[in-house]
Amino acid sequence: MKEIFKAYPDAILNRHGRGRRQSFTFRLPAAYLLSRISGTDFDKVRAVRMTKAWWVYPWYAITLGRHTDSMHIYMSKAYFDSRKLGNNAEAWLAQMSHELIHIQHREVFSNQLFYILSFAWDYIRHFSHDTPREREADQGTERFYELRRRVNHIFGNGTLMRTLNSPSLSDDEKIEIIKGWFDNLL
Ligand SMILES: [Zn+2]
Repeated sequence: MKEIFKAYPDAILNRHGRGRRQSFTFRLPAAYLLSRISGTDFDKVRAVRMTKAWWVYPWYAITLGRHTDSMHIYMSKAYFDSRKLGNNAEAWLAQMSHELIHIQHREVFSNQLFYILSFAWDYIRHFSHDTPREREADQGTERFYELRRRVNHIFGNGTLMRTLNSPSLSDDEKIEIIKGWFDNLL
């Protein structure tokens, strides 16, 4: 059988299942970092499932879910393609810093359909994807780049990813280091 997912950033994701049923969750240190970046509850970030979806517009991702404690992010093929973003953990973190803020947008609605319709109406009303909620979500991405810039400036280039990747640090130790970054640098 053909391997469906050619690549994914192992430093930040756990893989579940095989083939077409394959899905991903965040490793705990990445979930903690993204929770602090986005302001979205840690448990909700941990519960997020990500899958590759052929119908998602290239390079985009879509955050959906019937309940905010079990959200699903559908991602375009580029995120699982080793020639594109499949091995680019930082590109994933930047995009997820945006998507996880949509979980807070979903929390406002009791019903998923109303959430979807409100976004559709936004895009129509503003004649584009550039809407107030999208701009708010983009601030998550900017915050991620700002954290990366400060961490790498002070501790040396590549420190952020080296910490997440480190085989010698436990998850708790990584979370403690990341906590220090937020408390002292951002
Ligand atoms: Zn968005």
